[in-house]
Amino acid sequence: MNPQQLFEKSKKYMWLPFTQMTDYERDPLIIESGDGVRLKDIYGNEYLDGNSSLWLNVHGHRKKEINDAIIKQLDTIAHSTLLGAANVPSILLAEKLIEIAPEPLSRVFYSDSGAESVEIAVKMAYQYWQNKGIKGKTKFVTLSNGYHGDTVGTMSIGSIEIYHKVYTSLLFDALVVPFPSVYHHESSDEQVVCQEGLQLLRDLFEEHHEEIAGMSVESMMQGAGGMNIMPKGYLKGVEALCREFDILLIVDEVATGFGRTGKMFAVEHEDVHPDIMTMAKGITGGYLPVAATLTTEKVYEAFYGEYEEMKTFFHGHSYTGNQLGCAAALANLEIFKNEKLVEQASQKAEYVKELLQEVKDLEHVGDIRQLGLMCGIELVKDCQTKEPFPWELRVGYQSTLKMRELGMITRPLGDVVVFMPPLAATFEELKDMVEILKQGIIWAT
Ligand code: PLP
Repeated sequence: MNPQQLFEKSKKYMWLPFTQMTDYERDPLIIESGDGVRLKDIYGNEYLDGNSSLWLNVHGHRKKEINDAIIKQLDTIAHSTLLGAANVPSILLAEKLIEIAPEPLSRVFYSDSGAESVEIAVKMAYQYWQNKGIKGKTKFVTLSNGYHGDTVGTMSIGSIEIYHKVYTSLLFDALVVPFPSVYHHESSDEQVVCQEGLQLLRDLFEEHHEEIAGMSVESMMQGAGGMNIMPKGYLKGVEALCREFDILLIVDEVATGFGRTGKMFAVEHEDVHPDIMTMAKGITGGYLPVAATLTTEKVYEAFYGEYEEMKTFFHGHSYTGNQLGCAAALANLEIFKNEKLVEQASQKAEYVKELLQEVKDLEHVGDIRQLGLMCGIELVKDCQTKEPFPWELRVGYQSTLKMRELGMITRPLGDVVVFMPPLAATFEELKDMVEILKQGIIWAT
């Protein structure tokens, strides 16, 4: 089938996620193949994968070891249900995940997407208190601008207006505290912002702790809310407050996990030990839809007993624990170990930091926020006043369209351009990517 026919069919039959279809029709992109950190479209154009195919690709595309692991598993079995029965790769993967996760996480509950892993975390935390007979603890605390997925439950604990507003009456109410964003605060003193943020949380906990089941946070860095980094000490402070007020700490590592921030998990930056931790995206190296919610024996035991006690956790989807996905995840973790990928990622992050200095000096770059290989570049009309561009200009979007023309794919978050290359990108490839990033921003601003 020729490219034009494929495009016509896509227009006729498809509806793409988080996409206004008129944008797609104006600037269509149909990917046909990938190799390393490059993607190729149906016309044969090549693009560097500047956002790791939406923050999940780790080793590049068509990594031999992962391909081989999937093929091998395919010759054994592709899928059997996890409801009431374990399977071999899911057991082996659970052990490996517990080995690399922070203590005291000791149990793995599988699912198929980041959103579902957080949905599970919310249900688990809620039912934990119900099973313990503490019936009043039913609410959740979350940070402004948080994003944990697009299902009804995860939208309820998320607070990005543009995505959530239309559904307001469909969602349950969460208690929202302001995210301590240094760039958007009137004080530029990180410690002032941190202490103020923690004080606001303490005030909320003091008033409401008897009603609060859990607090959910993205780990160290908010993704979809604009790539905002927590000030130093904030996550550790949140952990301490959760302990003090007996609130379960849910840390969302869906975007930040698997080396993306220069540590295997971002909680390691502050030695934080969550009660529940979610992961997805990079868990299979970006190959297949596997996610997991990890928790502690304390939480697990509140669900453990005879069926008649009615403490069972009633959650589970058809494809949960899929063998192909778990086999890919096992191969992924093996590559992490063999190639010392986390250390590599933190060296590459230093290099990217140097490269981004030139971008920082551009007239309309207000802020660059980087943790490891997760970077957000905020474009503003006026760097002095931080006045944004009029939103209808869609400066972030326009800049990424230009980047695509120049040979790199990424997606913006409003006027924050995301740069999140695969961990396996070489120094040379990183250099090329940042050059395109710069040219795209210059063109659009
Ligand atoms: N949590 C965080 C922090 C995310 O960044 C995302 C997606 O970007 C999700 C959850 C949802 O993951 P998924 O798109 O796999 O459902």
